Amino acid sequence: MKRTLLIFGLLVVTSTIAAGAMWIEEYKSGIVWPKPAIVTAEPDKAPSDAVVLFDGTNLDAFQNGDKWEIADGVATAKNTSIYTKQKFGSCQIHVEFATPSEVKGKGQGRGNSGVYIMGRYEVQVLDSYDNDTYFDGQCASVYKQQPPMVNASRKPGEWQTLDIIFTAPKFDKDGSVTEKAYVTVLHNGVLMHNHFELMGGTSYVEAPKYSKHPEKDHLNLQFHGNPVRYRNIWIRENISPLVGTPPEKKEEKKEEKPEVKAEEKPTEAK
Ligand code: MG
Repeated sequence: MKRTLLIFGLLVVTSTIAAGAMWIEEYKSGIVWPKPAIVTAEPDKAPSDAVVLFDGTNLDAFQNGDKWEIADGVATAKNTSIYTKQKFGSCQIHVEFATPSEVKGKGQGRGNSGVYIMGRYEVQVLDSYDNDTYFDGQCASVYKQQPPMVNASRKPGEWQTLDIIFTAPKFDKDGSVTEKAYVTVLHNGVLMHNHFELMGGTSYVEAPKYSKHPEKDHLNLQFHGNPVRYRNIWIRENISPLVGTPPEKKEEKKEEKPEVKAEEKPTEAK
């Protein structure tokens, strides 16, 4: 009986090794991957494969960009919201902003702006340094859907970063959402939302809901009456995982038969 169990165990081990032979022999996955593209990423610069929306010179990438003030490599919100001429779907967004160093107003009236992904999903920009407001409306919130995990806001006037990874939703022909949108947000390098499932568009006046929209749309930067400053804005569209080709399965089962013969020898039956 012990012998039978031993041989059975050997069979299990052998077949397991055979199934994973490609990985074990080569110490590699065996999957044939496309070569990852080379992207240069220097400090304080947009990655080489990014669409640069603002590098300090002009806001030509934006509709209404001429309505904002540009000086010393910085764009200041003024007059109206601006939106990109180019449309984007799933993407990675980098924005640097500074709320006014001269503190005026309170709550939502202090350093308010916003990054409107696809023109309808707002990641809030606000002066949330020692400035109380409703939590799902403070800086780095998904507006009126989810507060940030923590408050990493810097003092008024100091430069801050928002890094956003957004997965666009999908809709069927009838307009129903078939795949919801997701967003991951880092504020000043600190995680605020980890693959948060959006409930729909963000609105000030009504509950969030999905409304069918194109696969790509404009990115908006909000003017909310406060002179919030921006610099170094870029976006990357290449955020899909590489797809590899699985290894061939030709080596499975090859070791099983010789072991079965050993078990059947009469002298070993006790
Ligand atoms: Mg706002």
